[in-house]
Amino acid sequence: MLILKKISEVRDWVRRKSSKGGQIGLVPTMGYLHEGHLSLARAARRENDFVIMSIFVNPLQFGANEDLDTYPRDLKRDSQLAAAAGVDAIFAPEVSEMYPYYPQLTTVNVTEITEVLCGAVRPGHFSGVATVVTKLFNIVQPDRAYFGQKDYQQCLVIKRMVADLNMPVEIKMVPIVREKDGLAMSSRNVYLSEEERRQALCLNEALRICRDLYDKGERSARKLLDAVQDRIRQEPLAAIDYAEICSAELLQEVDEIKENVVVALAVRIGSTRLIDNIVLEGDTGV
Ligand code: AMP
Repeated sequence: MLILKKISEVRDWVRRKSSKGGQIGLVPTMGYLHEGHLSLARAARRENDFVIMSIFVNPLQFGANEDLDTYPRDLKRDSQLAAAAGVDAIFAPEVSEMYPYYPQLTTVNVTEITEVLCGAVRPGHFSGVATVVTKLFNIVQPDRAYFGQKDYQQCLVIKRMVADLNMPVEIKMVPIVREKDGLAMSSRNVYLSEEERRQALCLNEALRICRDLYDKGERSARKLLDAVQDRIRQEPLAAIDYAEICSAELLQEVDEIKENVVVALAVRIGSTRLIDNIVLEGDTGV
């Protein structure tokens, strides 16, 4: 596995690969890989000639009291897993390589869709994400880039940024990969104690209850959210950051579900913040 630490090395690698006419898929991650990340890598493998994964814990997207310092890291293990999933090269820069001037004077800010859900409780987070992803796009200049539905809002923000700024890259959203018992895979799951891990199942179960009610004909967002919240509140260690139903494209509040919506959850289990979501296809299909 080729591990590139410098931007100049990535540019050389990309130049060599694309001069042969090869298409390049980029998989941006913060590392500590699990099957969720690897499903992105496999999708990139199928659809491109070359695959590069970035592994960078981006300080710009962490708030002051968040887990930047404790975020799990294991580049050796990650490079083995990535190689097995068909990744050709990893870009794992130091913070000083990505941000020689920190903080940068230039950032990328997507409005409106970053002001709700995670954006409302993590100020500056999506600016940090949009800025680092723009830098990665400029460094790698990929044909396609892969993001997980697990971070639905993030994926939407990147799609909108690419559309608004005419960035020449195709954004692909890959479905959520779950543990056998339904917990959405996340690098942060390692923070959970045994009891917290058990109670963390309430996110997926609440979403399943929501989907069942929806399938039976319930279209009131309030009633669906009441059922979601009731399930989560059964767990003593769970505290809801948000539980919302929003339009799937613009993340606007919805009362009666007609168009496609996302049911989005952020729940603290003890001190670990977990997110999960499902998309419900509206009757109008929009
Ligand atoms: P992260 O390392 O947490 O920043 O995640 C890197 C990418 O992997 C993001 O696009 C995530 O949405 C995606 N991802 C993380 N967990 C999952 C999962 N369980 N299923 C699918 N994609 C995921």
